[in-house]
Amino acid sequence: MENAFIYTDAYLDYDYGPTHPLKIIRLKLTYELIQAYGLLPLPSVQLLIPQKADDETLALFHSREYLNTLREASEGRIRDAYPNGLGPGDNPVFKGLYDWSLLVTGATLQACDFVADGKGAIAFNIAGGLHHAQRSRASGFCYVNDPVIGILKLLERGKRVAYIDIDAHHADGVQAAFYETDQVLTISLHESGRTLYPGTGFEDEIGTGRGEGYSVNIPFLPFTDDETYLWAFDEIVPPLIDGFRPDVIVTQLGVDTFYNDPLAKLNVSISGYEKIIRRMKALAPRWVALGGGGYDVSNVARAWTLAWAVMNGVELSDPLPEDYIGKEARLGIYERELRGASKPPRYSPMEVVRKETERVVEYIKKTVFPKVRDTGTPQE
Ligand code: ZN
Repeated sequence: MENAFIYTDAYLDYDYGPTHPLKIIRLKLTYELIQAYGLLPLPSVQLLIPQKADDETLALFHSREYLNTLREASEGRIRDAYPNGLGPGDNPVFKGLYDWSLLVTGATLQACDFVADGKGAIAFNIAGGLHHAQRSRASGFCYVNDPVIGILKLLERGKRVAYIDIDAHHADGVQAAFYETDQVLTISLHESGRTLYPGTGFEDEIGTGRGEGYSVNIPFLPFTDDETYLWAFDEIVPPLIDGFRPDVIVTQLGVDTFYNDPLAKLNVSISGYEKIIRRMKALAPRWVALGGGGYDVSNVARAWTLAWAVMNGVELSDPLPEDYIGKEARLGIYERELRGASKPPRYSPMEVVRKETERVVEYIKKTVFPKVRDTGTPQE
């Protein structure tokens, strides 16, 4: 079975601005580290160059008025549109932002087609995963919700889809899109909305109507570490996926969960992240992997390179390839290890963190597990 990696240097034609935390250069660094480790090309891998999505496909989820506003902003005809979330701050108006969105969404659609066509088992679009965009509003650095549009296309093709989101921020846009349906199971693990944007994603948000039980949220307190994070993942995610039996799993693989990420306060390490990716691989019959948040660019390159290695069954050694170290040095980064650099310190409130996570896990088992069809684990 082949896997696909989707990338183009054309991403670097776009820029959120010098003070914005989302640095598009992280995509190129990831591509370069993957190449430096010899993970591209591989005999079993296709490198796909993304094609822009078309307006019609974006309109599967977004309103026409919003798409028109995005286009006007992209062409420099308006400088802000606050009702649509656009303007200085999180979602700046920059030249070509609409084309950027078409390109990222097009890459996600290619990943979905690759997997749905049966060309291969796994496709990875590191530029995707812009999970906050709402129907008529940009939010949290996201203008167009490529995960939602990709999932809608998979549904059109008769696929049963589960979505797993491990970004530090709640997957609010994806949850909203599928909150009333049992056709898509969405699971978001994130830092609690009490301490982090977007302020949602509590355990009692479980869907409504037919969708009741098909939106799952695992909020974590700040400083949650690998041990508690992985425990909660194992308690909740595999039983629900076993019960739901998806044809395809779409995952958002944000890396802003790391202790040294400048925007969030979780304490996941890169080794913990690697373990999560291994668990996902074991769960996913067909896998559309998307990027997501991550505001320490060096973490992003390391973590997504590790993820791509796991997807392809390759073990990576810790010392970074020499020529890659030179590439990072352009940005003033001189770390030499793949995993070692991001070991989090231990914080004292671990008992509080663990107790709260145990409470959340019990709540989900009581409320969600009985709803999701054929859920594997028997209830005590
Ligand atoms: Zn995030």
